[in-house]
Amino acid sequence: QQQQQYGGQQSGRRLNPDDMPSPLQVIEEDRRARTGEFLTAPRGALPPLATTKFVVRDGGNASPRFIRSTMYSVPSTPDMLKQTSVPFGLVLSPLAAPQAGEQPLYPGSTIADGPVRCNRCKAYMSPLMHFMDGGRRFECMLCHQMNETPAEYFCNMDSQGARADKYQRPELCLGAFEYIATPEYCRNKQLPKEPAFIFVFEMSQLMVQRGLISLLCQNMTQLLQHLPKDSLGGQSDTVSKLKVGFITYDSSVHFYKLLGQAPEMCVVCDKEEMFVPVPEGVLCDPNEAADNIAKLMDNIPQIFLGTKENSGVLGNAIQAGMSALKASGRTGKLFVFHSSLPQTEGPGKLKNREDRKLLGTEKEKSVLSPQSVFYNNLGQELVGVGCGVDLFVFNDGYVDLSTIGQVCRLTGGQVQKYSYFQREHDGPRLLQDLQRNISREIVFDAVMRVRTSTGVRAVDFYGHFFMANTQDLELAIMDSTKAVAVEVKHDDKLTEDEGVYIQTALLYTSVSGQRRLRIINLGLNTCTQMAELYKNCDLDTLMNFFGKMAMSKFMENSAKQVKEQLVSRTATVLACYRKNCASPSAAGQLILPELLKLLPLYVNCLARCEALSGGQDMSCDERALHIYHLSTCTIEASLVYYYPRLLPLINSNPDAQDVGIPTPVRTSYEKLRPDSAFLLENGLIMFLWIGSNVPSQWMNDVFNVNAPHQLDPTLSDLPVNDNPTSQRLRAIIDEVRSESMFHLRLFVVPQQGKHEVVLRSYLVEDKGVYGAPSYVDFLCHIHKEIRALMQ
Ligand SMILES: [Zn+2]
Repeated sequence: QQQQQYGGQQSGRRLNPDDMPSPLQVIEEDRRARTGEFLTAPRGALPPLATTKFVVRDGGNASPRFIRSTMYSVPSTPDMLKQTSVPFGLVLSPLAAPQAGEQPLYPGSTIADGPVRCNRCKAYMSPLMHFMDGGRRFECMLCHQMNETPAEYFCNMDSQGARADKYQRPELCLGAFEYIATPEYCRNKQLPKEPAFIFVFEMSQLMVQRGLISLLCQNMTQLLQHLPKDSLGGQSDTVSKLKVGFITYDSSVHFYKLLGQAPEMCVVCDKEEMFVPVPEGVLCDPNEAADNIAKLMDNIPQIFLGTKENSGVLGNAIQAGMSALKASGRTGKLFVFHSSLPQTEGPGKLKNREDRKLLGTEKEKSVLSPQSVFYNNLGQELVGVGCGVDLFVFNDGYVDLSTIGQVCRLTGGQVQKYSYFQREHDGPRLLQDLQRNISREIVFDAVMRVRTSTGVRAVDFYGHFFMANTQDLELAIMDSTKAVAVEVKHDDKLTEDEGVYIQTALLYTSVSGQRRLRIINLGLNTCTQMAELYKNCDLDTLMNFFGKMAMSKFMENSAKQVKEQLVSRTATVLACYRKNCASPSAAGQLILPELLKLLPLYVNCLARCEALSGGQDMSCDERALHIYHLSTCTIEASLVYYYPRLLPLINSNPDAQDVGIPTPVRTSYEKLRPDSAFLLENGLIMFLWIGSNVPSQWMNDVFNVNAPHQLDPTLSDLPVNDNPTSQRLRAIIDEVRSESMFHLRLFVVPQQGKHEVVLRSYLVEDKGVYGAPSYVDFLCHIHKEIRALMQ
């Protein structure tokens, strides 16, 4: 049964929210059915949900961690696809970390010129090449070109008609693998050097007085222990080969020579002059220069102890980092720690245009689009030299993330914000985030190209990168926590037996300085029956795609228009199913395709989320941060962002097994029981809600107070108490944090407390604070739209 019926609309009785399709149930059912091994064959195999724990076995298609499609059976005619209104999109996370039990990526075999490729479309040798003529020729499944097999790549065919060496060569039997690139694939045809991480500190009064600079300096040696090590085919380096460097800036920029007897500071930057002379020895091996780095980390807080400067020359500091990489012939990443709106005279100067009253109105673009092209131009220049930027912002006031964050957006980087930083509360969180950021898998100076079989083509791309032409995504950096969405256009008829093939090639420099190509192949089925599409689509991927697309489109049009289009598209998708695929039933009945039954819920969540609908209760910078998050996040992260997890913390059934994360309940205020406590999280923020009738023993065990009104309102973490209740609760919080991309800040919210209204805005099944419809109301609205389309 691929469809479900929901109530009679005309009956007049109030719909029970618990009868509406539930994401918790969908997640749980898939978990039960599909935990375990997933073999990526045959072509078009629908993977388990992103929320299910599965182990991938590569059967000739890439792992769904690297690539997912909104559909695994593509309608054979463009007309049919258009009629359904279901988008054909891909979500790519080419650096996604493998799970325990999964094979690493193996290196494919190359010939003297590098990997074997199709002469016409330049696709790489992979299971998409079909050998014939006794192995002398191969046909490219993407463009159907017949290619001569290079003599040095020739191999006889076996009795099954496959190359006899098929299982000895990763590129002939696996969906995902890597090629080690030849100098042809490198900048100036020279093999790259090891990349570098450069830490760039703004020396403003805020940064110094809040203890940020001393915190970073005191922990730097420890953080550098976590630099990523390269690995290939299961072989890992024993030490990281990345270089490191340090830059500080206030109204001028300072480099530090790390090689020699003692670290040496050089003040060099002339603000008007784009050319930055970089002294020798600024980038070094962190082990070789360990003593000097330790000395420098002792010195920096001393040198700037009494600073009176309020703002640093951000643009110049980033240019200086870029010049340091360029001067040493390396690519790399800048970790920029910054606190102010750049107001020093010079090209990167910005004005304070914060006006949160505009958020949520038609005029919001005037505060959400960049106010100057300086940071966009700088971003492009950075991509040109393979320098990515992650921005860590510690602001009390407006810093204009919409403008300065462009350097992150264009280079494949990200923005993180720690407003009103207090070392005691936010210090541990910052260090956790930094450690994760530093240690995760990352590549540099990357170019990504998506090739497809004839009849379809990649036309639009959403995420953080730069495009100089219509096909290549340039990413100064790319890491395991980022995803890119690709819109595929269907413009020619496809035959059912042929299928649709996609090959993504990511050319990059690894953390040890090796130039490689990561090849990610995916084969999809084609169908002549529309029902096949509805039986083979992936809603989680579709919603990540919709989110990224919305972030791009609402800056061109308006948030209101984008939301209206999403809603009407949802109705079209569902009406088309009802008309063409569902079994006959009463007109008053809402019929939803099984795999898309949560589409209305998630579209309502997307329409009301802070990235698309954030209003004047948030700052412009906060809104920008949400936009960056949804533009880059993975499928798992977008799901919890749309539909936050609500976890009951006091077990009503004490016999239940008390390990792991508790079973979530529907994200609605009705589920909050006054005699219990709940954790609510969306991957960016976490609330601990405490009911007014929570047992005083529980309060004592967890917080050392008797009642919620005695709680310290500034509490940002739980006291470490030695009793089972406290231990269990802290274990839950730790586990939730370990699953998120960031170390989530905890806010404790007593029932009826003044911050409860903030928490309520995340209870997405309820009516929203700014009039967003509840789940039930939205579903009724969609039902009405569907009925209108049916007539
Ligand atoms: Zn080809």
